[in-house]
Amino acid sequence: MVKTIFAELAQLEALIAQLGERARTEVVRRIQYQQHSFPIYSIVMGSAREDVPVLAMVGGVHGLEKIGSEVILSYLQTIVQLLDWDEEFAGRLERSRLVFIPVVNPVGVFRGTRSNGNGVDLMRNAPIEGKGNTKLYSGHRVSSRLPWYRGAMGQMEVEALALCQVVQKYVCNAPLSIALDLHSGFGIQDRLWFPYASSKVPFPGIAEAHALKHSFDTCYPNHFYKIEPMSHEYVINGDLWDYLYDGFMQSNPRQGHFLPLTLEMGSWLWLRKSPLHLFQRHGLFHPLLPHRQQRILRRHFTLFDFLYRSLLYPKKWTQLDEMELTRHKQQALRLWYA
Ligand SMILES: [Zn+2]
Repeated sequence: MVKTIFAELAQLEALIAQLGERARTEVVRRIQYQQHSFPIYSIVMGSAREDVPVLAMVGGVHGLEKIGSEVILSYLQTIVQLLDWDEEFAGRLERSRLVFIPVVNPVGVFRGTRSNGNGVDLMRNAPIEGKGNTKLYSGHRVSSRLPWYRGAMGQMEVEALALCQVVQKYVCNAPLSIALDLHSGFGIQDRLWFPYASSKVPFPGIAEAHALKHSFDTCYPNHFYKIEPMSHEYVINGDLWDYLYDGFMQSNPRQGHFLPLTLEMGSWLWLRKSPLHLFQRHGLFHPLLPHRQQRILRRHFTLFDFLYRSLLYPKKWTQLDEMELTRHKQQALRLWYA
């Protein structure tokens, strides 16, 4: 086996060693690239029961946006420490599950590319077509040498399959779950995107998404996230979360809720103060100054904690009566789809 050769993977493996028996770690798949064999790890913590809520976090789908992986590693670092003394946190884990895939696209992170080793943009790789005004960046099959290449028709990449496998096995089987996929690079504001990415049609969980936003807005009135359906900004082909969500809705035997969210960290803000970083490979997607990176690594912990608590105590956003459902749906339609 080839030794670990990039920082994020080394850090992940050190964390896995520290977690030891307190987590269930798997190598979901291995990716062969040049002389290397890169593992895709999943880490599962907490209850193995099927009826507990689940929070999942995914990073490094786009390798160039490795800050997503680093934020998850930073959160895992905190969890490793909490497990030593915080009984309240241990209690939470007994009635819930945490699932992490910190580095979905190890070859992309290793090379500093958006795509995987085959030149495929994993977030354009699902068998799902965008509806409406799609552009080149929506995903195409022109050439793997252009960004946003979807891959060959009918063929899902190993990394995409690994992500789907873990989400279907540990997340979608729960009565209530949220998946948070961390990206960077779009605009100057941090955005929290919910489905759909492939269509401007409201997704079935719109009332619950609005109720959760309302709860977040009232608990943290000074938060800095723009919360919206991803299709508000652009429509894409092959979105893995739309694919997983639709799959979940087709079976969904428990009449449960699964809310896939994308955290798109507004990295252009980091550039505004150091515009010359634009000319470095990671400049548009990664904070290059240490103090700025530190700030990003802790910036979203309030959000993570809010989502986790909303899963443990979901009454306000998942158990809506007829009147509340109608009200949240109408407000959502007005806010996002007018
Ligand atoms: Zn991305």
